[in-house]
Amino acid sequence: MLSTTSLFLLMMAMSAVMLLVLSSQAHSGARGIREWSVANAMAMAAMPLFAARDHISALLSIELANALMIGTSVMMYAGFRRHLGCGVQWRALGGFAAATMATVVALHVGIDSTPLRVAVVSLLHGGLCMAMCRSVWTALPAAPRRYPYLFTMGAAFGIGIGLFVRGAAYGARVAGWLPSVDVPTLDLVFFACGTLSIPTLTLGAVMMANAEIIARANHAADHDHLTGAPSRRAFFAAAERERAHAARTQAPMSLLLFDVDHFKRINDTHGHAAGDRVLVEIVARTGALLRSRDLGGRLGGEEFAVLLPATAADTALHTAERLRAALQCVAHDPSVERGADDAAAAIGYTVSIGVATLAPGETVADLLSRADTALYAAKAAGRNRVMAAAAARHDGARRRA
Ligand code: GH3
Ligand code: MG
Ligand code: MG
Repeated sequence: MLSTTSLFLLMMAMSAVMLLVLSSQAHSGARGIREWSVANAMAMAAMPLFAARDHISALLSIELANALMIGTSVMMYAGFRRHLGCGVQWRALGGFAAATMATVVALHVGIDSTPLRVAVVSLLHGGLCMAMCRSVWTALPAAPRRYPYLFTMGAAFGIGIGLFVRGAAYGARVAGWLPSVDVPTLDLVFFACGTLSIPTLTLGAVMMANAEIIARANHAADHDHLTGAPSRRAFFAAAERERAHAARTQAPMSLLLFDVDHFKRINDTHGHAAGDRVLVEIVARTGALLRSRDLGGRLGGEEFAVLLPATAADTALHTAERLRAALQCVAHDPSVERGADDAAAAIGYTVSIGVATLAPGETVADLLSRADTALYAAKAAGRNRVMAAAAARHDGARRRA
């Protein structure tokens, strides 16, 4: 049969398991892990004190145990605030914890009313749960994935309501409105629910941390580290989506493939770091020229691609020419307005561009291959120029070849 002691020990074991789960994320870079770990460690330490209340002094089983539980709630809340990047008001939280402790001591040593103490402490813990719920709710629109946030909000709200009900029930007993309540049974119901509270909130926290870790990994895989442009992987995924859309709607779609001319010379003359700055500047200039629907990407080295949805061959050629002109940068060009921190200012560079427009039934790889051939024709013709790709071979003919 369940007893309050066994529930306390169960919660201690569950907090220990959660602590181990949190430890696995200690070096993940996810924010809030430290605070959540401290919260679970405090809960673990509090549980045996509550469980041994008939065998140890009241100072340990009431004052110290309650102090640890207040610390648990405060650190859980602080962990969520830190995780969500909305700042932890340590002073306010410290004041809240001190006021709660002062209330516990006053209700124990002064009035010596256990029901009143339980009522007040439950209401204060419930308030912190509602604050957790509100913080997560505020951050929901920017959540990397909604489920972990909804889970945590639901858990914090449910636990908060449970604590308010507990506070109200004990308050009603103090007021004499609930004379017939069987206290041990009531305690057991609340403890059974309470046992799950910190582990459930920690589960939500771990899910939120995982969502953040996955979102960061996806962002890193989908963006070039140096320039922040979409990576080859992200570019091809988006290009495939656009190709499928173009095939469905019979809309045209074009691709520009461009490569910096004699980039090796830039590295050799000005150094690799200066070459890097040129690449960053090229991405910025390209981004400034594109429409919001267009998609640029760094395919590798000093080679970039731009996908132009809903764009036919003549418009694509025109866009490519504008891009080439925008990326024709003469060293110390006085006509180009540059910021004082533009370290690529002293370096001149140009690009060559190959342009291809999607043919019916053509794959992205084939489209890219035609643009690549055009790009190398532009290089061979003297660089700093735009070259249109040859028409695609008939799909059926290519398959037979
Ligand atoms: P071409 O006009 O024929 O394209 O000549 P190129 O010198 O631009 O081409 P090549 O392929 O010979 O050299 C490309 C150089 O780009 C060599 C490589 O070290 C440099 N490179 C590739 N990635 C980076 C990078 O991230 N940063 C810097 N600074 N250089 C890079
Ligand atoms: Mg090059
Ligand atoms: Mg190249």
